Amino acid sequence: MSPDGQFQAPNVYHCEAIPDAARAEIDRLLTSGDLFRYTAAEGSPVALLEEEFAQMMGSKYALAVASCSAALFLSLKALDLPRGARVLIPAFTFAAVPSAVVHADMVPVLVEVGSNYRVDMADFEAKLDGADAVLISHMRGHTSDMDAIMALCDARNIPVVEDAAHSLGTEWNGRKIGTIGKVGCFSFQSYKMVNAGEGGILITDDPEIAARCVIMSGAYESNWKKHPGMQNSYMLWQNKLPLYNMRMQNLSAAVIRPQLPQVAIRVAKGRAGHDRVADQLNQSPYLVVPPPLGPEERAPDSIQFNLKGDWTDAQAMRFQAEAKRRGITVQVFGLSEGNARAFWNWEFLGPAPDLPMTRAMLMRACDVRLPTRLTDQELDYIAHAVVSAALDAKAQTPA
Ligand SMILES: *Cc1c(COP(=O)(O)O)cnc(C)c1O
Repeated sequence: MSPDGQFQAPNVYHCEAIPDAARAEIDRLLTSGDLFRYTAAEGSPVALLEEEFAQMMGSKYALAVASCSAALFLSLKALDLPRGARVLIPAFTFAAVPSAVVHADMVPVLVEVGSNYRVDMADFEAKLDGADAVLISHMRGHTSDMDAIMALCDARNIPVVEDAAHSLGTEWNGRKIGTIGKVGCFSFQSYKMVNAGEGGILITDDPEIAARCVIMSGAYESNWKKHPGMQNSYMLWQNKLPLYNMRMQNLSAAVIRPQLPQVAIRVAKGRAGHDRVADQLNQSPYLVVPPPLGPEERAPDSIQFNLKGDWTDAQAMRFQAEAKRRGITVQVFGLSEGNARAFWNWEFLGPAPDLPMTRAMLMRACDVRLPTRLTDQELDYIAHAVVSAALDAKAQTPA
């Protein structure tokens, strides 16, 4: 509440406190100075995080690294493809994703994404012949048709990497997102489901990929011996692969580990909060929240919706301004200056490809953060602000 008793717009950029359990462990690490994951003979916080995360996901191997971008880069490198290999990625993703492909000396091929934020399967299939790998970004947790994607890729023996940076807790047909492709990559950057400021982790059941990623992440000399399983594979790759040094340090693991038991609660709260706001937005004649595909059980900490019907750019800009006036930041992906999720801003790739479907979606798709800590009152404030901003924008700006 403000001093005059008005309910104030919630700040959706503030984070939640890190569980108290992290304090004792951080204190212990500061006292010993033991911050490097490979100093201890065994049981370092990073190694324990890997063990716990692999168990939580039901995967054989986990490797904690500096960021999800590092995990994506290492995953692509570990596929052992030739320089210049072509990697299909959705055209709706975060700039770090095509960047990881470029970093791995590969060429990103952008696939159209529909107004429901999911990979357009016709364009995917058309571009699949000639592709060497597929990297699926489950953007904001929206899951594309993984059954169709896996069937098409398996038939051609094309490896699939999952960018599940923002999808921890999402399930597809009861399977955890990140366990469907050959490798799954997650982020611990502050705006994701688990917050360590920065950090990432990859999971796989493939011992060769795991071994190559471990070595390349910076397990120099015989440090790979501190990773469980398949020790022979490591011997094979030691000194044959570059050391990119993308390791995680112990303090990050100390911040992450006590958050893992909270993931299920955050997922449930995030889903309830999202659906509460979605129901209200869908009452508006001007807004629509695209439904998920049938097999998806989501873990949202934000909401995406489209401006419904005929909106001009001027009206959409007005809508952003009206929401801001109510204290809520709404980003129309394609209309917010320099947005890192608009493919035409990825100038490092060269001239932007022609992707009319994705472009049309980005020009009318809106993004609002809904951290899982928000109360019902705060969620309702946001929903009401967005709905009334749309109404005012339409009323004030002639088409
Ligand atoms: C956040 C995010 C990334 C990058 O994660 P970092 O840990 O910051 O490198 C990649 N892809 C998606 C879909 C993301 O949301």
